[in-house]
Amino acid sequence: MAHTKDTITFDDVLKCVKTYITDKEELSNIKRAYSLAEKKHNGQYRKSGEAYIIHPLNVAKILTEIHADSETLQAGLLHDVLEDCDCTEEEMEEVVGRVVTNLVDGVTKLAKLHFSTENEYLIEYYKKIIVGMSEDVRVIIVKLADRLHNMRTLWALPREKQIKKANESMEILAPLAHHLGIHKIKSELEDLALRYLKPDIFYDIAEKLNKTKLERDNTVFLMMDEVKNILTEHNINFEMKGRSKSIYSIYNKLDKGKKFSEIYDLLAMRILVSTKQECYLALGLIHAKYRPMPRRFKDYIAMPKPNMYQSLHTTVFGIDGLLFEIQIRTHEMDAIAENGVASHWSYKENKDGAVSLQTATEQKLQFFKSIIDLSNDGMSSEDFVNSVKNEVLNNNIYCFTPKGDVIELPTGATPLDFAYKIHTRVGETTVGALVNNSIQPLDYELQDNDIVKIITNKSSSPSKEWVNIVKSTAVRNKIKGYFTRSERDIYVERGRDLLEKELRKRKLAINGFFSEENCKRIFKEFKVGSLEEIYLEVGNGKNAPNSVINIIDKQKEEVIPKKVTITKGDASIIVSGLSKVKVNIANCCNPVYGDEVIGYITKGNGISIHRTTCHNLSMLDNRMVEVKWNDNSNNTKYLSMLLIYSNSLENHIADIVGKASKIGISIDSIYNMYQSDGLEYNVSCYVTSIKQLDKMFLELKKESYITEVERLIR
Ligand code: MN
Repeated sequence: MAHTKDTITFDDVLKCVKTYITDKEELSNIKRAYSLAEKKHNGQYRKSGEAYIIHPLNVAKILTEIHADSETLQAGLLHDVLEDCDCTEEEMEEVVGRVVTNLVDGVTKLAKLHFSTENEYLIEYYKKIIVGMSEDVRVIIVKLADRLHNMRTLWALPREKQIKKANESMEILAPLAHHLGIHKIKSELEDLALRYLKPDIFYDIAEKLNKTKLERDNTVFLMMDEVKNILTEHNINFEMKGRSKSIYSIYNKLDKGKKFSEIYDLLAMRILVSTKQECYLALGLIHAKYRPMPRRFKDYIAMPKPNMYQSLHTTVFGIDGLLFEIQIRTHEMDAIAENGVASHWSYKENKDGAVSLQTATEQKLQFFKSIIDLSNDGMSSEDFVNSVKNEVLNNNIYCFTPKGDVIELPTGATPLDFAYKIHTRVGETTVGALVNNSIQPLDYELQDNDIVKIITNKSSSPSKEWVNIVKSTAVRNKIKGYFTRSERDIYVERGRDLLEKELRKRKLAINGFFSEENCKRIFKEFKVGSLEEIYLEVGNGKNAPNSVINIIDKQKEEVIPKKVTITKGDASIIVSGLSKVKVNIANCCNPVYGDEVIGYITKGNGISIHRTTCHNLSMLDNRMVEVKWNDNSNNTKYLSMLLIYSNSLENHIADIVGKASKIGISIDSIYNMYQSDGLEYNVSCYVTSIKQLDKMFLELKKESYITEVERLIR
């Protein structure tokens, strides 16, 4: 291997910084951090023979590529100073302040790990990462940049260390970068790790890629030209990129038994446009010209991955009948795809990008929550390490609920894992599962992108067999826990839950409600002697929570007037004789102006308006109220969800979008799913009235490829 020495200077880094940081004060903070780093590393050399400062400079350079903020850059420059140099925290704080010093301290702690066994080491490593992330995710981002540069210069270390670092990068750091959505760092880490772990394979793939490069480039250019023409003809502003696949991703596919010649997405391109609508439009235009390969279309715009990734993916038969993998996304989606959580720096204009970054990490990353949950679960060390490694960091599949919510699961997961991930109650009452609309056994192995509908039965309970069926350790522990409790305990617990939930709904204090005096009255009524028995009777379904609560707190339905007029728009409502009442349009059946509607009096949230055909109403007893639309209409738009069934595998998204826009309906999202006899389109759109919707139905039904259109009721 030939190794060119990095000849990076602070000026090189500063040039990159200035492309996105212009604030004078921040720039001088960065300079100050550099001076300190330079002074402290003076006279130190790396194993590769270079001056040590070359390393932190490169780390900072990597950080500029994901547009890290000034504090992160300072921490990157100083990240090795506390550990390797004669410098105290106090001294550093004086120069760069508390926040940056804390970041450096976090990175240092992450590095200081020495344990006798592999397991001990891993436990500490993961725990430190969790702590690091929960305190300030920027610690992890500096760590990733640090590791990336160390991997680039790994050749200077002895073989044994190479293997250790490469393994760690592959197993922990690359997956971490993936979950944070920092694709740029993830894919380079994987390629570098592969180079040291499986050098034969790495160089074999690299060579094959090189040999075919010219040919591939030419084909891609020709195809790009054609696509450019199509988009330009339709006045879509776009940017287009050819895309090379990483060596690791090719290796992964070869490893799954594919031949090199079969890896079709070697020919790949990416189209960047301005809006979501243009993404679908571009897709439609491309599919109209090139036949899409069945089952390769994925709509991650309507259904983003848990790491926030959004894009349309399709594979088409392009020029010369060659397969092209095409990704279509907006510029903003692209920034998120490349930089993940780090894109919050560039896209949040507010001064405190760090806070926004941290919030985004915590709110959006299911992965982050899973790690925290696991560490709080009180599981054994070995279980913890295995769970993090196998279920959180690696080999995840993404499955969907029928509503399109993404559930992240370990590879090999079953419908039971899926059910428990939705909610423990769902898991415990599971009786069956529909996977992509066909019944599957509970031990069925789910695949990436499966749509799973869990069938539950309230009176059903877990079976001991399940312990052997589920894949996720956390779920297995839950099921084991269920059997260590007696049936009675479970009913009591469930009863208490149900009662507390109902009390909260009615805004009654739980302790106050079960006062000695109230309990006496309840016990008398139900002929029992203890609160536990009440819980039991509610939990096993003998009595409804309301029948218990009504003894003390009579509901006052009688006084609510039964006629109400809905004004469109600003939810103002005229109740005969009373003042304004809050109105909500129910999001299960999404009524639009002109629909036959009925009101349901909620507790504390006004009246929710449902379509009279909504199946959720049957259970909603006597709290219905007659309502009608106010005809003084303005131009409010109502959300409507449509299901369009077709008998064709050809993609008609562009056609459907076109029809909608002709009628004046704006599409919010549209995606399709493959069914056995054709594509099924799931459309969410905004309409002004039922008339507009009827028009749309009429237009759609004219098409021979459409077999049925219906409005979705959840
Ligand atoms: Mn370092």
